[in-house]
Amino acid sequence: MTEIQRSIEILEALVGFDTTSRNSNLPLIAWIEAYLDRCGIAHERIPDRTGTKSNVWVTIGPPEKPGYILSGHTDVVPVDGQTWSSDPFRLKQRDGRLFGRGAADMKGFVACCLAAVPDMAVRKLARPIHLAISYDEEVGCIGVRDMIAHLKRAPVLPIACFVGEPTNMGVVIGHKSKRSLTVTVRGKTAHSSLAPQGVNAVEYAARLIVKIRDMNDRFAREGARDALYDVPFTTGHTGVVSGGTALNIVPESCVFEFEFRTIAADNIDALVDEVVRYARERLEPEMKAVSPEAGITFEEKSEFPGLDTPAADDVVVLAKKLGRSNAHGKVAYGTEAGLFSVAGIPSVVIGPGSIEQAHKADEFIAVSELEKCGAFIDRLIAHCAEHSA
Ligand SMILES: [Zn+2]
Repeated sequence: MTEIQRSIEILEALVGFDTTSRNSNLPLIAWIEAYLDRCGIAHERIPDRTGTKSNVWVTIGPPEKPGYILSGHTDVVPVDGQTWSSDPFRLKQRDGRLFGRGAADMKGFVACCLAAVPDMAVRKLARPIHLAISYDEEVGCIGVRDMIAHLKRAPVLPIACFVGEPTNMGVVIGHKSKRSLTVTVRGKTAHSSLAPQGVNAVEYAARLIVKIRDMNDRFAREGARDALYDVPFTTGHTGVVSGGTALNIVPESCVFEFEFRTIAADNIDALVDEVVRYARERLEPEMKAVSPEAGITFEEKSEFPGLDTPAADDVVVLAKKLGRSNAHGKVAYGTEAGLFSVAGIPSVVIGPGSIEQAHKADEFIAVSELEKCGAFIDRLIAHCAEHSA
């Protein structure tokens, strides 16, 4: 069987497991472990606290030497409310494209990595290749954090990490940082005819939302710029609001969610602090003057650090060489690469397929993309074998 046939066959198996982030990924993990067993390769689970999900960490080659990580997540986004032309959990091939949930994001990459394992196993690698296969990436890069903590305890840190999110095999050296929060505004209810005796939670939430909006206008107007991004400045927005029960009642509660996505020049924590300070210094004193119980609480929802690997870094040079590409770029979406990078492992994002197809109905990956990815991994294997001299 050729490597591309093996990649497609593995992808078919992986797509067959409904690993939407809310589900356990253990059946898929067990499948991968059985496959690795057949290749004679050891593997290690790094489970979550509930025991229903797990990462898998694999080392092929000398474990005491620093090597290269190929990183991919096993979870996928829901298909709820989407209209698919075929069963999203059955890989369907048509016109050189493979359709299925996760085909592009990012079971296609994981399939290419696994398909290359037999080759990695027979080559004498002077430097190891690691597979870092994670869970719960789509809900805030959760799973990979334990795997990175585990790595940091090892005697040697890997040289570099390639995160295979879909980039059409382009070399991506940066993505923005993100922080999202849930805000609960507690007011004081009253009959609406007595409005000044109450604290209107919806109105205070609105004032805070406008504050966030004003900050976003400021970023767009005069914020730092990074021309490699489609939107070359820091952004933010409020995405969900709910509050109030009836028009004749001063609303007691309002809950909303907002986020910031920053370029490397901006400090995301300082921006969140600015919002919190506005709540504490401007809004809460007014609220508490009417009712001491009124107030605003902030709760972290999710966050991931940005990626900002220098274009001259060795990992970028190597990724370009292995990927046969001279260009590099930055992307709008977040990945696990930021976390690897913060842990001291230089990282780039490079993977098959297009982010255009990710998360959508009729998600697909072109067979040609899997071939390109397979060639990239083959060259990485050769690179790791070369150093045996
Ligand atoms: Zn992804």
